[in-house]
Amino acid sequence: MDSYKVYIGLEVHVELSTQSKFFCGCKTKFGATPNTQVCPVCLGFPGVLPVINKKALEYTIACALALNSKINENSRFARKNYYYPDLPKNFQISQYEEPIATGGWIDIEINGQTKKIGIERVHLEEDAGKLIHGEGEDAEWSFVDCNRAGIPLMEIVSCPEINSPDEAYEYLTILRRILRYLGVSDCNMEEGSLRCDANISLGKAEMGTKTEIKNMNSFKELREGLKVEIQRQANLLKKGEKIIQETRFWDAKKKKTFSMRGKEEAHDYRYFPEPDLLPLYIDDNWTERIKANLPELPQHRFDRFIHEYKLPSYDAGVLTESREIADYFERCVRLFPKPKMVSNWIMGDFMRLIKQEGEVKIKIHPAEVADLLKEVEKGTLSTTLAKEVMEIMFKSGKGVTQIMEEKQLQQITDKKSLEKAAKQVIEENQKAVGDWQKGKSQAIKFLVGQLMKKTKGRANPQLANELIEKKLKELFGASS
Ligand SMILES: [Zn+2]
Repeated sequence: MDSYKVYIGLEVHVELSTQSKFFCGCKTKFGATPNTQVCPVCLGFPGVLPVINKKALEYTIACALALNSKINENSRFARKNYYYPDLPKNFQISQYEEPIATGGWIDIEINGQTKKIGIERVHLEEDAGKLIHGEGEDAEWSFVDCNRAGIPLMEIVSCPEINSPDEAYEYLTILRRILRYLGVSDCNMEEGSLRCDANISLGKAEMGTKTEIKNMNSFKELREGLKVEIQRQANLLKKGEKIIQETRFWDAKKKKTFSMRGKEEAHDYRYFPEPDLLPLYIDDNWTERIKANLPELPQHRFDRFIHEYKLPSYDAGVLTESREIADYFERCVRLFPKPKMVSNWIMGDFMRLIKQEGEVKIKIHPAEVADLLKEVEKGTLSTTLAKEVMEIMFKSGKGVTQIMEEKQLQQITDKKSLEKAAKQVIEENQKAVGDWQKGKSQAIKFLVGQLMKKTKGRANPQLANELIEKKLKELFGASS
């Protein structure tokens, strides 16, 4: 296998999150009752005419710009003809020889090196409906849901410059991040708003015969499916057998790819220009306006976080993974201008709590985070207590001051009451005291720990340490 080079090209389909469908006013909400978001246009009744959704075009142009592609002033929609039960029109409005955008690239990081993966084209088409295969009593039946039919679907085709499953994984990760920053799709693979097919071939000096793999429904499956297919092709080549050009189906349970059908050629689809839509003319002014409104993209933001906030690249990577977190971080830093401290807090428990909630909607106002960090800085809250407060903030939405009052969480900095507690700790832990007298300095740590425990973590740790030492010396003289 070592003697073969792997060539992978990815075709990524992205359902755009427009309010209405591509050519009609039907809603696009995911999970609605089957066939409740349909009309004569998306069901392909005779005599209907499509009207283009401008937002879908804007989203596509924005993506193409973010991928460094060239926006073609003139492009055209084409009919791709094929029969399938979830395609009531028997053709799909797509783009063929004249896509909206061509060329471009994505930078990926692989083994600490930046690698450019070329983009071949970005085009726009409509999605098909969905087949639902019955289970149990309905096992003999298949059902058609046309709610998805006609949702704008952007296709991004990479050049076959991806050379390993890990690179494919990284490419898709970076691409998804860009799309999410742009806000053009939720890119949810489980709900099918991000789908990825792979063309894959092995070759020595040049690419061999390729197969197309479908049905890899998560990032993990993409990596697994590609690994399995590479191995399958390598085994065949080793035996001197030929690779058949075909479409193969990834079965995640069996961890195998299966032949679905011979790979169609473009001419099988009898493409011809869509007669119901005029050729598309995208003038430079429009493109420029969209360009001017692009948000700051993840790579740029990552670099800026390192320079502007002097953050380590690890922090910058975690914080810029999603636009929401990056925005949130910056809002916190404006109120509490110690970037590294804010970063530590957000990357720690904060991220864990967000993941628990399962949504990126952050309920705590940045001002509350700033307040919390101020208390930590002043020493009124220990780190442990602050973590506790943050957790309560997440769950209850209450403010820092209110929680501290309710829970009486202020650190005990009152010497007198702490001294009393320290004395008790020493009395109750004679063994540790004995150890200390024998010169085991570790024993102090244990006693301080006991004091922290006694005060439910509320003792100021430095003071606790001081007082235990002081008490021991008072009682038993200088330590050994
Ligand atoms: Zn419709």
